[in-house]
Amino acid sequence: MENTLPTKPVSFSALHRAAYWQRLREEEFDVLVIGGGITGAGIALDAATRGLRVALVEKRDFASGTSSRSTKLIHGGLRYLKQLEIRLVREVGLERAIVHRNARHLVLAERMLLPIVEGGSLGKMMSSLGLWVYDYLAKVDKKERRRMMPADETLSVEPLLRKDIVKGGGLYYEYRTDDARLTIETIKTAVANGGLCLNYAAVEGFDFADEAQPVAIVRDALQPDAAPVRLRAKYIINAAGPWVDTLRAVDTEGVRGKRLHLTKGVHIVVPRERLPLQQSAYFDVLADKRMCFAIPRQGVTYIGTTDTNYKESTDNPQADSADVDYILAAANEMFPTAKLSRKDVISTWAGLRPLIHQEGKSPSELSRKDEIFVSSSGLISIAGGKLTGYRKMAERVVDLVCKKMGKSIACRTANLRVNGADFDNRRAFDEFVQKRSTSMRDLGVHPSELIALAQRYGSNLDLIIERAYELAPQLAGDGAQALEYAELLYGVDYEMVTTMEDFLIRRTGWLYFERPRLEKSAERIFKWLQNALSQSPETAQAQHAAYLQEYASVMQWSEK
Ligand code: FAD
Repeated sequence: MENTLPTKPVSFSALHRAAYWQRLREEEFDVLVIGGGITGAGIALDAATRGLRVALVEKRDFASGTSSRSTKLIHGGLRYLKQLEIRLVREVGLERAIVHRNARHLVLAERMLLPIVEGGSLGKMMSSLGLWVYDYLAKVDKKERRRMMPADETLSVEPLLRKDIVKGGGLYYEYRTDDARLTIETIKTAVANGGLCLNYAAVEGFDFADEAQPVAIVRDALQPDAAPVRLRAKYIINAAGPWVDTLRAVDTEGVRGKRLHLTKGVHIVVPRERLPLQQSAYFDVLADKRMCFAIPRQGVTYIGTTDTNYKESTDNPQADSADVDYILAAANEMFPTAKLSRKDVISTWAGLRPLIHQEGKSPSELSRKDEIFVSSSGLISIAGGKLTGYRKMAERVVDLVCKKMGKSIACRTANLRVNGADFDNRRAFDEFVQKRSTSMRDLGVHPSELIALAQRYGSNLDLIIERAYELAPQLAGDGAQALEYAELLYGVDYEMVTTMEDFLIRRTGWLYFERPRLEKSAERIFKWLQNALSQSPETAQAQHAAYLQEYASVMQWSEK
């Protein structure tokens, strides 16, 4: 097996933005990737590890599009079996194991309950067969294979289920992740392999006049008045997710042939004690025969998702009251004693699926397969797909680029760990956590926080702990605050944290999942960040206002 050496932390600092811009201006690249979601991140990593000179630009923050707004599962997509998408289920099922192996601290096995209910989409026989085929296609380990249960056992495994309709259930395994962190770790690994990646760098257009040297016009989103850079790359890959067609529209031939079909998916978050499930559940929505997930995570349970056609602005999709009520009704139907109401919702998020349009199909029927389009200018666009399948999608695109370059270089990512994933197995991770518990006690931090941090940063956590010891004296010995400060500074120095939202949404997830902590910490994070980035008071205030707007928006939904 190759490429499993310890991953080293690599400087990827928001303080070096000017130097990164300089390189974008001066260097010539083999490949430019547009879009810093999981698709672009995977492509940058694949291309960099094949020895190509790669640049990636992202118009806002890494993972700020769909890749921080998913259900956060690395899964084969059980429901696609019903649509007979066998190849897709097999491919993403097999990818599950690879993504888990390469990011053990971040992609965690998750026991999932599939209740079989009266009026549900599958009966006992079909559920059992479906889960068997699912495990078989993904070559699931014996200990993680599905187990079918009668009604009484299902109810003892999950007492909150609606007793009058349960006919049985199946237990099987999926993997849970943090989509935004998987994206940033993939980008950091691309950087460690020589890629140049930059957030807040937006492609505005192209110049394909010289066929041998395509140019992308890239503007600094943080300094919109500065002249844009003419970035030179032999191949330009459009991995802009829901914005793929927006970029195709400014290409020479416009949007021809296949086009995107965006659907919106919303999740709601409730305190764990309001829906204290024993494990994750994948359950029927009886009204429309769809399926929903309910997933416990630290102190909360999140539930979703919806799937509705979307034609509004792509820049900030939000939940509306119909979305929230749909999810609440679905959860109450399956777990009636919870009696969830709008008052229980502590946050929401909405994401857009960049699917390929198929005439006459409803949102849930649209295929999740990815497709590559190559325009006459040479612009390569990729759309569709899933978080889980990102590595394979990247392999296909980079294979195509290598073929066009007349090079034969095999993909190297199957056994490549992402940054911070220095664990051969679960035991190694547990030992890592155990060994850091003394430091946490010294710093006065609760043990549950240690696990959350280790799952977030893997072996890079050591850099944060070291920094926290250095910072504690400045903070009157308050170890917990020092750890928080150190985490923020790690974000600035190693993960290109440039705004409060970068840190509070995409690097830590606090905005969605840890609202009480957020209330306590947001103001000091604001001051520390202003200091770390030497921001002018105007810039800092503008960013603070943007954060407050985002803070409010995850708790507001428009009436529909
Ligand atoms: P994005 O993450 O949107 O990235 C595209 C990026 O391009 C954006 O960050 C954007 O800012 C940038 N960009 C756009 N225009 C420009 C420009 N002009 N210049 C520079 N940058 C630009 N998949 C799973 O495997 N498991 C799940 O549990 C799952 N759940 C889902 C739940 C929901 C509600 C949704 C909506 C999707 C879910 N998916 C899931 C699918 C998965 O999330 C997506 O397939 C994936 O995140 C898409 O990633 P992407 O990189 O293609 O797009």
